[in-house]
Amino acid sequence: MNSPLVSHTEISPNRTSPRNHKIDTITIHSTAGHIDVHALGKIFAAPARMASSNYGIDDEGHIALYVDETDRSWCSSNADNDNRAVTIEVSSDYKAPYSVTDAAFSSLVYLVADICKRNGIQKLRWFHDKGLVGKEDSTGQLRQNMTIHKWFAKKDCPGQYLEERMFEIAAKVNALL
Ligand SMILES: [Zn+2]
Repeated sequence: MNSPLVSHTEISPNRTSPRNHKIDTITIHSTAGHIDVHALGKIFAAPARMASSNYGIDDEGHIALYVDETDRSWCSSNADNDNRAVTIEVSSDYKAPYSVTDAAFSSLVYLVADICKRNGIQKLRWFHDKGLVGKEDSTGQLRQNMTIHKWFAKKDCPGQYLEERMFEIAAKVNALL
């Protein structure tokens, strides 16, 4: 099942079906350039790009689906991460700190809350600690269930703006759960 918040669907061929792990992680990316959900869909529709995300959010806050939640997107330069994460590309400014609009940020909070509710993620945990990737607590839950792209590749994704707001995103989403 996918989010009912989606207003545009354009399934990308760039995916692995099905994912091999249950969804227990959220990975938020930025597009490093203002791009609407239709244009991002066209990029992900090209097999040569070999890239996709489960969802995309544009400057107006529109939410798109590019890869079903049951499938693994090709988004974070890390197969293990993308097999367990729902990946979300958020339209951002083209240069550092890669700011996003208030409308995009608001849609992001509601989308992540919806994903968590439907997938049994009871609480978002963010410690800004790459060392916690894949680490579980005594109950088998991930100690940190948000990740960022720059931990897996030489990239500045999601950029300073969203990276500094992961605590705020987690708090706002947790208030909705
Ligand atoms: Zn990224």
